[in-house]
Amino acid sequence: MADVNLLVAGAGGGIVAALRAQELGLSVAVIDANEHFLRANNTSMSTAMIPGAGSRFQREAGVDDSPETFAEDVRRKTKGRANPVVTEALSQISAPLVEWLADSLELPLELVTDFEYPGHTRHRCHTVPGRHGTILLGMLHRVARERGIDVIVPARLVTARHEGDVVIAVTEQPDGTREEISCDALVLATNGFGADPALIAEHTPEIAGAVYHGSEASRGDALRIGRTFDAAVDCIDAYQGHGALSLSGTLVGWATVMHGGFIVNTGGDRFADETQGYSEFAALELTQPDNRAFIIFDQRIHDACLAFEDFRQTKESGVLRQGNSVAELAERLGLPADRLEASFTQAAAGRLGETDRYGRSRWGDVDLVAPFYGVEVRPALFHTQGGLSVDATARVLNGAGAPIAGLYAAGGAAVGISGRGADGYLAGNGLLAALGLAFIAAEDAGRRLGERTAGQ
Ligand SMILES: Cc1cc2nc3c(=O)[nH]c(=O)nc-3n(C[C@H](O)[C@H](O)[C@H](O)COP(=O)(O)OP(=O)(O)OC[C@H]3O[C@@H](n4cnc5c(N)ncnc54)[C@H](O)[C@@H]3O)c2cc1C
Repeated sequence: MADVNLLVAGAGGGIVAALRAQELGLSVAVIDANEHFLRANNTSMSTAMIPGAGSRFQREAGVDDSPETFAEDVRRKTKGRANPVVTEALSQISAPLVEWLADSLELPLELVTDFEYPGHTRHRCHTVPGRHGTILLGMLHRVARERGIDVIVPARLVTARHEGDVVIAVTEQPDGTREEISCDALVLATNGFGADPALIAEHTPEIAGAVYHGSEASRGDALRIGRTFDAAVDCIDAYQGHGALSLSGTLVGWATVMHGGFIVNTGGDRFADETQGYSEFAALELTQPDNRAFIIFDQRIHDACLAFEDFRQTKESGVLRQGNSVAELAERLGLPADRLEASFTQAAAGRLGETDRYGRSRWGDVDLVAPFYGVEVRPALFHTQGGLSVDATARVLNGAGAPIAGLYAAGGAAVGISGRGADGYLAGNGLLAALGLAFIAAEDAGRRLGERTAGQ
């Protein structure tokens, strides 16, 4: 008999697996390598946007959406290169997931309707007040504690093996002490490999020159542990970049662009359609002189973005520059005024309906009005989106495509729904894969355990 039914390695999105499994009557345990996980993992660093397609929050807001529409958006954004099985599973679970977060865990979720994220044809991102991952993760762990689910820290999963019907997980503390926990099901929720420069250079070389702005604990452990089970990997070159990280390390946010702002290089010139997506924009910024870029917006956009904790932190860090005219803003940013003026002219023409030479057609219909703002940004890598192959129930697949008994993967540890490279990433893909696959894994583990017990 195993020590616990379900062991979760990784207390980011993985905590959802423990919460759901416990609701289904399973005994659970959670370990994390980092005792500061509440503020150090990617879930805590996120903007807390969780897609839910066809949710009751959408219906109440008059948004007509469905899992099929979401899956179609994923296919379009990834040019058909996203794993179809995982896309189907996650688009189907997305609305039940956000409703479960609201109803069972009593999270105060709200639908984001004040701007559109690139690639989503519907308003479908749900979030918590403050729109920050620390708030989301704090709420999840508060419920977990209330329900008696504590996280064992610091305990790093270093390896695992089968022994009969159970999985033996080997954990290690920083002093090298090792312990074994046996479980019926092990969920690998240890995120991807963004913090491992060698793996990044090998699998996602185009973004190797960017600043890494994700959890230091994302060291590719799931890949290494999966290998000992002969697990297959999928879409291993997929990643989320970001083109809006300020020099103070805070996120300016793409709402600046989607509300009508634009991005220039050190020459004051625009260089691409900003609305194609923030993920692929990081690699584009890497092609500009000195890898430098500047987001330009106005007071209206500034005020709208104050809804984001990240933007408020950016403002507080003192990196925003303001000008009462384009020339004044150019001077404060160290940009050539005539070129910046020309970029403003392009933006004004775009608002009148002209698709510009970069293909941007979405500007909103409100002109930028002084005072203007600008902030320097640098290209960043946030997290990887490829990982262990999983089926529709989050079970890890081996090289022959068969599920590995008792082994699940969720979040950055597993293949996501972002296709290949950077341009398939849709806002919310990261958290949906993290929370959604964790939820699905718990349900499948519960069902299998129930069947096994019934058969005894
Ligand atoms: C700045 C930023 C903003 C983002 N915004 C969004 C957003 O709005 N919406 C969205 O969908 N996605 C967003 N993402 C992506 C999203 O944060 C991630 O895709 C998601 O949080 C991954 O969840 P996870 O559970 O896989 O990993 P994590 O949340 O990083 O959790 C993994 C945990 O595993 C632990 N761990 C690692 N190795 C081991 C081991 N061997 N043993 C035990 N524990 C281990 C780590 O300490 C960590 O706590 C953002 C990312 C960043 C960096």
